[in-house]
This record gives sequence, structure tokens and C-alpha cells, in this order.
Amino acid sequence: MNIGILAVQGAFIEHAKMLEKLNVSSFEIRKKEDLNRDFDGLILPGGESTTQGKLIRELGMYDILKSRIESGLPTLATCAGLILLAENIANDSVSHLATLPVTVKRNAYGRQLGSFFTTSSFGTHENVPMTFIRAPYVETASPDVEIMSVVDDKIVGVKYKNQIGVAFHPELNDDTTIHQMFIDLC
Ligand code: GLN
Repeated sequence: MNIGILAVQGAFIEHAKMLEKLNVSSFEIRKKEDLNRDFDGLILPGGESTTQGKLIRELGMYDILKSRIESGLPTLATCAGLILLAENIANDSVSHLATLPVTVKRNAYGRQLGSFFTTSSFGTHENVPMTFIRAPYVETASPDVEIMSVVDDKIVGVKYKNQIGVAFHPELNDDTTIHQMFIDLC
């Protein structure tokens, strides 16, 4: 199995380390040609969604990524990655890949709660560590989106067909629950 990690900006190295722990190989997707490689799953890391959205367009990756995800490529999107997948962004006029039928709110926790750590359940898994960094949350989700995790009444984890989206950074803790769930999908 081989996983492609979008590596144009943001926290991509930490995802590769998580996969290493699970004995899964990965490579960085930095340019359009990298998308010609064979891969069984895609990770969209945290970072800055506006920058990432701009770069995937400028580097000619937008259409390929969108159609690969729409045709079923298992995809794990964390934080800014979740924003890239969202069909709508409540506080932004442009959306990006728009493959996930949810509305997200960017930088949704305000200044004081810009970053925080908690543990919560994710699907049937309990006590999953969750690090939030200027995180979005999901405001609304279409009925066919599975709600995997809710923290303080806000949706922070969803699953829809081949896509898992989380508002937090699972790659920043030792717990491999989220990555394992993604690998199982692959
Ligand atoms: N605030 C960032 C954005 O809007 C996301 C933050 C993150 O990925 N940690 O893109």
C-alpha cells in the first residue's frame, strides 16, 4: 500500500511519520507529475487552506485531485484539509475541492480558543486525543454525511463515502486511531 500526502504547504511530515508507525509507505505530492504515481489513498494535511487551495490550482493539481476523490480514492483530510474538501465555507467566498457535502466555518473558535487540546470519542473509539489549532468546525452536514465526533456541540469529525474529515490534528499525537481507520478504508 502506498499513500500520497499533499505536500505543497503545512503539516505533511507528521502524517508520513504516523504512517511509518503503521508500517505504511507514503510519498509527498509536490507537483502535478507526482499524481501519476500509483497510490491507494490521499492525505490532505493541516496548514493554511487559502494557500493550499491557491497552490493546487497554480500547480495544475486541482482537477486531478477532485476527480480522483470523486471517483472513490480514500482521503483523510485534517484541519485545513477539511476546509479544502468542504462544499461550502461559511466565512469565505471561494470553496476548493468541494467533494464533501458540508459547510465548514474557518478559524471557528475565536481568538481565545485558537488552540486547545481535548479527548473525545470518534465513532466507536473513545478517548481519542484531539489537538485543535485555529481549527474549523462543521456547521452543517448533508444527511448522508456520518457524524463521527462532536466536541462542545460542534461537529469536528465526519465521514462521507471515501472521505474522512477532521477539524483537529491527529498527526500531532501518538494515537493512531484516525490513521488506522483511514488505512482500513484504503
Ligand atoms: N486556520 C487554517 C485555515 O483556515 C486551518 C488551521 C490548521 O490547519 N491548523 O486554513
